[in-house]
This record gives sequence, structure tokens and C-alpha cells, in this order.
Amino acid sequence: MSEERHIPGPPSELADTLNHWRELFQHEHAHDFKALKVLTSLEQAIFSFYVDYADIDKDDLLSLRFNEYPEETVERANEVLRSMSSEYTDVRCVLRPLNFPDEKIKKISDLRMRNRGELVSLIVRIHEVGPRVGYLRKALYTCIACGHREEVSQRVARERKRPRGPCTICLEDAERALGEQVSYSLYKRLESLMQLTAEGSFYQDIQYLNVHDVESKDGQPIQVLVDDEYVDGYKTGEVVRVNGVVYIDPIPDRNFVKDTRRILQVRALSIEQVS
Ligand SMILES: [Zn+2]
Repeated sequence: MSEERHIPGPPSELADTLNHWRELFQHEHAHDFKALKVLTSLEQAIFSFYVDYADIDKDDLLSLRFNEYPEETVERANEVLRSMSSEYTDVRCVLRPLNFPDEKIKKISDLRMRNRGELVSLIVRIHEVGPRVGYLRKALYTCIACGHREEVSQRVARERKRPRGPCTICLEDAERALGEQVSYSLYKRLESLMQLTAEGSFYQDIQYLNVHDVESKDGQPIQVLVDDEYVDGYKTGEVVRVNGVVYIDPIPDRNFVKDTRRILQVRALSIEQVS
């Protein structure tokens, strides 16, 4: 699998995933939408949308997608939540899948590179809370010639990605004017017209928690990446259940960009207090 993972399959499968999330939210979460109707982002910036794993599991398509491509499938859910809530509120909804079955529980010491992309539940004690940082989650590029805009999703701790190819509007204009395909040098010039626009780009709050298995504090720790409302929400010594995706990341203090070494991390999709 390459680092740029996309949900494979025809666009109809993407549409099905969106439709199935929409149905799930309509059937199981009317109460959440009712609560959202009276909220504005001034009172609460983020609304955690707690979805029971069992509800996802009941839907064959969502269950398959969620287990095979968890992050992408959650991203689709967030898109649906955004469009469903936008008519009432400007609060940003974030899907938080909870109550993972016990078969997802893993020990940190058992995680390996081959577990990459898997959904896991870890019961851990927080050893260290890292600084709050932000990253450019969605970069907005604007064509300086025609004003055409394009959003490009970014990944944490990776080189920033530009739009694929030049401004589509200017490229079409140029091809129409010339009556043929543009030359390589013109193509490159049109490509350089797309420039990053700070205003309108979306920065997300993130934080790394260093955690170890609750039963073995001498075992190897692992970094858990948390975002949005979970940032600054936890203290050293707390015991939590992290439901998330096994992630691999370049080592943090790499001193050359193409370093091939990777470490395991878990990106939290939800966090539950353990009493
Ligand atoms: Zn343009």
C-alpha cells in the first residue's frame, strides 16, 4: 500500500458510503441534530458525534469500509455530518466512534508494522502530554490569474502537497486559444499560478500523548495522536481507552527527508475514560 491511500473502487461506492452514513445518522442520531440546532460555534466550536461501533457494524457496507479504510471512512462521515448540520449551525461536527468490541483490544507490545491501518483499542496510562501544535489539514490554493480555488488535503508530518496540475480554468482557456495542447513550459507556467492562500486554509489542533500499556509501565511506550476537542483534554497518569488506527510515521528527529525509518503510532478516533 502506498502512503497516499484512497478508497479504491468506482465513484458509486463512494456515493454508497456517503448514503449509508447519512441513513445511520438519520435513524440513530436525531437527538444530536436537535442539540445542534440550538448551538453556535461561539458557544462550542466542536460537537463530538458519538457513534456506537455496533451501529456501524450492523451496516455491512459501513462495517467493511470502516474496518478496511478507517480514516478515509471517518472522513466521509465527517463530510456527511458537515452537510447535514450546515443548515442549522456553524459548529464543526466530528465523528467519534465508541464502544469497540473487545476483540479490538491490543497490547502496545504486540503492535507491529503489519498492523498498519488496523482498528485497535488500547487501554493505556498517559505518561507524557506533548505540546499543543497545529498542522495544515486542508491547503487552499488560488490561481493568481483567474481566482480559481482548489483545496488539497494534507497529512500530518509530510511534505505539503500542491494541486495536481495547473489551474483547470486557465489550462482550458489556453488550449482553446491555441487550438492544441499546451507546451510543457506553458504547462509548468500555468502550474505555478496556483499559490497557497493562508486565509481559507484549515489548520487543525493536534497533540501527541506518550502512553504505555496500563499493566506494564516498563514496556515500550507509543505515541497517540489526538486532535480537535481531545487536545489539552488529558493529564499525565490518567488511564484511558484509545480507539484508533495504527499509523506509521517517519521518525520525529529525522535529519534527512528521505529517511526510510518509521515508527508506529496510533491515531485516536475516540478516547474513553476508564474508571
Ligand atoms: Zn486560473
